[in-house]
Amino acid sequence: MPRAPIEARIRNLVEKLKQRGVDALWVIQPENRRYLSGFTAEDPQLNESSGSLLIGPGRRLLLTDSRYAEQAKGQAHGFDIITVKGDWMGELSRLLDRLGLRRLGFEAGYLIWGTYEKLKENLQKGNGHISLVPFEDMVEDMRKIKGPEEVQAIRASVEMISAIVQHIPAWLRPGMREKEIAWRIEDEARRRGAEAMAFPPIVASGANGALPHAVPTDREVVAGEPIVIDVGVKVNGYCSDTTRTLFLDKPEGIFLEIYRIVREAQLKAIEHIKPEVQSNVPDKEAREVISRAGYGEYFGHALGHGVGLATHEGPRLSPTKPEVLLPGMVVTVEPGIYIPGKGGVRLEEMVLVTEEGAEVLTKDLGFYPV
Ligand code: ZN
Ligand code: ZN
Repeated sequence: MPRAPIEARIRNLVEKLKQRGVDALWVIQPENRRYLSGFTAEDPQLNESSGSLLIGPGRRLLLTDSRYAEQAKGQAHGFDIITVKGDWMGELSRLLDRLGLRRLGFEAGYLIWGTYEKLKENLQKGNGHISLVPFEDMVEDMRKIKGPEEVQAIRASVEMISAIVQHIPAWLRPGMREKEIAWRIEDEARRRGAEAMAFPPIVASGANGALPHAVPTDREVVAGEPIVIDVGVKVNGYCSDTTRTLFLDKPEGIFLEIYRIVREAQLKAIEHIKPEVQSNVPDKEAREVISRAGYGEYFGHALGHGVGLATHEGPRLSPTKPEVLLPGMVVTVEPGIYIPGKGGVRLEEMVLVTEEGAEVLTKDLGFYPV
């Protein structure tokens, strides 16, 4: 990771912290941590951290344990690396005391209650002068607008998943199990050099496709039914996320009509993605197409979400909490129609907001039903 973008992010963050009157931000959220330091370790689980940052004017510390100390030294240039021996909250609070901090910002949307309580307890044992200040989405908001180096990484991630999806019709056959299809996609992603899947692949055939976030089962796919495949990879930390709905033969029943409606809704939404547009507008446009066709009640989720170091991040393209779209944002456009007991169709593209409008990053694979 080149240092220049990270330096700029830290400068930007420190400015915001000064305006809010806090001495430092304690960064524990893994993607925020990577974004601000270049330290790529992930957390083994929610209550087990691979490290945290302390960033403030003239201050850059990375606290980690012996498992990650070498990696941190190699990746987080310009940070003082502190190796914690085991009593995380005790050592952190003594460090804060030593540094003479008074107001410490923390990530309110991520810090779990038990850890918060433990930190508070330890701070009270110290000099008792430090107050904890909750911050909502401070770094997440910065991450919404991607720099050129991030757009480049996202393009590489999208390119890989597009190539994998493009290849699916060459091997997908009736009688294959959903789990087997999901595994084949994962296998191909690893062979092509993906660090990981961006999220567990969704392969949902027939009636299973009516569940937007279905988990692959042992069900065997059948020709003529819709097969929803929603997949993404992680390349250099950046995620991709795309969905295609495939038919192994002429679509059965209403699904050809549904497919056309979903595609029309998607194209309509993309037309409305441009700078200064409110993020609920593309959602509204897509929803109108689907409602007019009589399927409004079968499109329950939001139209899309930002993608970056996390698969799901800001901005949301949803009917609620609109925000202004700006150049550099990368969002998905993923309308769907889900008929309980029968099946579903979802199509998902990734789109970059540009100065002029929008650029569809995912490749047009020409997967239209025969
Ligand atoms: Zn998806
Ligand atoms: Zn998505």
